Amino acid sequence: MQTDNMRVVVKVGTSTLAHPNGRANLREMEQLVRVLADLMNRGIQVVLVTSGAIGIGVGKMGLFEKPRDTPGKQAAATIGQCELMFMYDKMFSEYGHNVGQLLITKQDVEDEERHGNLCATFEKLFEWGVIPVINENDAVAVEEIVYGDNDSLSAIVAVLVHADKLIILTDIDGLYDKNPSKYPDAKLLPVVETITPDIKALAQGAGSSLGTGGMETKIKAAEIACAQGIDTYVIAGKPAENINILLDGTPIGTHFKAVRHG
Ligand code: ADP
Repeated sequence: MQTDNMRVVVKVGTSTLAHPNGRANLREMEQLVRVLADLMNRGIQVVLVTSGAIGIGVGKMGLFEKPRDTPGKQAAATIGQCELMFMYDKMFSEYGHNVGQLLITKQDVEDEERHGNLCATFEKLFEWGVIPVINENDAVAVEEIVYGDNDSLSAIVAVLVHADKLIILTDIDGLYDKNPSKYPDAKLLPVVETITPDIKALAQGAGSSLGTGGMETKIKAAEIACAQGIDTYVIAGKPAENINILLDGTPIGTHFKAVRHG
């Protein structure tokens, strides 16, 4: 696959970044960072959209479960976000790359002036060879916490930076014809040509206690990105090497085909 000047947005979920108890999964994070750093070494421009702030905050504070109330979630997010960025900064630095943190909300994208500022910041980061690491501004964005929708955010970011591909990493091999955690005979759908109501109906809730959107938000994200001509892939985040397999041209996970205009 031709990778020169390619721009890729990679979204990683809590289920890949944290152990079930909420503590950071260092092995998975290290592997992910290594793969992404190597993509950058190949000349691919990478944007990382990362969840995990609340989950990692929960783990760091030693709480037994994710808080149910909004102040609790937001407080956990403030703690987890620091830890998350500290780890990304440390790990990317080991491979000679710098990270830049952007905490954004949908409003930042929808407001014309803020939108312009965001695009200019992204372009400067690309010019400087820095990897933008994006999360929702969980500490202030109440709605975002309720929907927990970093999948859609990753699609919005992909559109914003005119990405060639959006890769959504998750804890399952891709989209199945029914929820595999309930139905052992569920089959993987390697390609989705068009996102129809029948496709949307396949998603049923999140699989893990720390994960949030489940397949529903991933399909929603694919719909946003594909409509703008961006091919979207939902693949297993473990092992992170799956990203290389995909970019080297081997079909893996579910490929939501971009709508080709004209
Ligand atoms: P992440 O934290 O990586 O975003 P989620 O837990 O939010 O992951 O979403 C992935 C989960 O969605 C899967 O583990 C699975 O249990 C659930 N799911 C529901 N319906 C489907 C489906 N049709 N195909 C695949 N996964 C599904």
